[in-house]
Amino acid sequence: MSESKSEALREFVEAAKTLVNPALSDYKKKGGKVIGMMYHFIPEEIVTAAGMMPYRMRATGSEGTELSEGYFTQVNCSLVRHFFDSGMRGRLSFLDGVVSVNNCDHIRRLYDNWQWKVKTPYMHFMVFPKKTGKEQVEAYREQLEGFRSSLEKSFGVKITEEKLREAIRLHNETRRLQRELYELRKADAPPLTGTQTLAALVAGTCIPRDRYNALLKQLLQDCRAEKGGNGWKARIVVMGGEIDEPKFVEIIENQGGLVVGDALGYGSRAIVNDVDETGDPLAALARYQLVDRPADPRIFGTTFDRNDYVVQQVRDYKADGVVSVRLIACDLYGFEQVNLSKHLKKNGIPHLGLEIEYVIDAVGQMKTRVQAFLESIAEAKHDNRN
Ligand code: SF4
Repeated sequence: MSESKSEALREFVEAAKTLVNPALSDYKKKGGKVIGMMYHFIPEEIVTAAGMMPYRMRATGSEGTELSEGYFTQVNCSLVRHFFDSGMRGRLSFLDGVVSVNNCDHIRRLYDNWQWKVKTPYMHFMVFPKKTGKEQVEAYREQLEGFRSSLEKSFGVKITEEKLREAIRLHNETRRLQRELYELRKADAPPLTGTQTLAALVAGTCIPRDRYNALLKQLLQDCRAEKGGNGWKARIVVMGGEIDEPKFVEIIENQGGLVVGDALGYGSRAIVNDVDETGDPLAALARYQLVDRPADPRIFGTTFDRNDYVVQQVRDYKADGVVSVRLIACDLYGFEQVNLSKHLKKNGIPHLGLEIEYVIDAVGQMKTRVQAFLESIAEAKHDNRN
């Protein structure tokens, strides 16, 4: 769908291109507080229940990593170097706080350096377990309890059980609406491209929640009146970690591959399940992050589930192949790509593995590889028809 046909879509696309969008600026001008989520596994609902806005940290628009080079080694992924550079340049100075977990050693180092040099007024760190047993869920619940107390003490707020339940309902509503958007992608000619869909999901991490949900409802209505284009060479599922750059998907789509589904941290993995709205809310949030949502490579013993999840996306979205992506120097997704590649081969699903930098450069080489991959799928489809 052309952006000119939907104001909501236009706002999402613009929000994903910048760190500070107009709705966020307004929120700040009115005295709203914003807490940066340094990576995933952090329940945004606790921040919402505190009357503040959770903001998933990005470094969109970063032009270099010069200010990071003295603090990170070359074996640190470029995501953390761009994040830190942006922090040092004050590009994320609108944040009133930052919270992080030990997702990987790169993020751990980013948090330490951020605390030391960027000095966002409020900083909090949580230990995220690697396993998914009852003991680990309880341990993470304790970490969340600590986060709740720390926010209450630092910002003079009270995070009651009722406020937590309300926040869970609000965030579940977002997930439900986003799933409706994903359902539309199953059509033969989906109204939105994969690039637009990723922008809509990234926008959900940086626009105040009430406004975002209202815009999402508007977008769904706009989509219902629309038919998408045909003539794509192949339907593609993308797999990767914290890919927050719609341009990555755009490169695939510009070569003729329509991205219809994903297993991305900003994508389906964040929306397929709801947080349980009954019982102890902190326990529900801990269980959601560790057990209920589709696993991340960080979680021990889930390789088969993760691989099956990608195959399921291919089936559900009638895709012809998978493009997986890892940031250079990311060991978690390096192993993931190797395992996934073998699994897809066993299932007869074509796969292309790409390595990119956080700020996408070397576009030419990537285009060539994607083009060759799409051609091979198109040829195989043609041969099968004859
Ligand atoms: S891209 Fe990989 S190495 Fe970098 S922060 Fe994410 S998980 Fe860690």
